[in-house]
Amino acid sequence: MWVKTIVVLPYLPTTDDLLEWELSDVAKSTGDLKNSYHVFDDEIDYILEFIESGRPRNKRRHSKLTKIHHRLEGVNCPICLVDFRETQKEIRYDWDLRSVEHIISLDFGGVTNEANSILICRSCNIAFSDMIRGLLPIRVTIHGDGRIGGKKKKGDSKRKRIRTPKQISSMPNDWKERIYKQYLFQRIVVHSVPLVKRDLPDLWNDFWENKLKQIEVSNRMMIKNNPDYIPTEPDFSRLDIL
Ligand SMILES: [Zn+2]
Repeated sequence: MWVKTIVVLPYLPTTDDLLEWELSDVAKSTGDLKNSYHVFDDEIDYILEFIESGRPRNKRRHSKLTKIHHRLEGVNCPICLVDFRETQKEIRYDWDLRSVEHIISLDFGGVTNEANSILICRSCNIAFSDMIRGLLPIRVTIHGDGRIGGKKKKGDSKRKRIRTPKQISSMPNDWKERIYKQYLFQRIVVHSVPLVKRDLPDLWNDFWENKLKQIEVSNRMMIKNNPDYIPTEPDFSRLDIL
């Protein structure tokens, strides 16, 4: 039987969309958010359905990611505006490193391709992941021989990491709303900081807490490797964070 896998690609907001959002009333409820930002409905439905199905996520494809990294253009982070630090293949942890973000994350059913990729700095990227981490239960490994968890067997091509139906059914009642807001936040913040500050202020604060923490962690990791390391001094004065 031919089973077609439907993959939804992220909608690309136009300048008209942005204008419309700016002119809309302040969102006071999830209903208001859904009204204003309805262009993302298909993606959100797809994501919620994907999570609920318990299907395994798409594999992280490193070589493809590297190609996309080279192809995408951008000199600063669309969120925090820092100039990207470029690297020559070596592994680094700088907070201002140029990094590729999956717009629909792999954990939300996204795929690694150019249409689903965007450049943001490393600390903004990790801040997103940190915000999501608490929202969903950790996947468990199901081995080819049926075992759950425990040691990996070499060459086990049937091994997969999934959320079990039991894990999914015991998620908190508001999980869909929380995933919705998180996804919406990530979609909007790369286009307009004023809009997320206005419509998703709690998530904006949460993002900054995580982001600042991540800058410290990154600096510490780099200084551990090289005591002479001089990190980029964070300057978010153009952003009007609070
Ligand atoms: Zn950034």
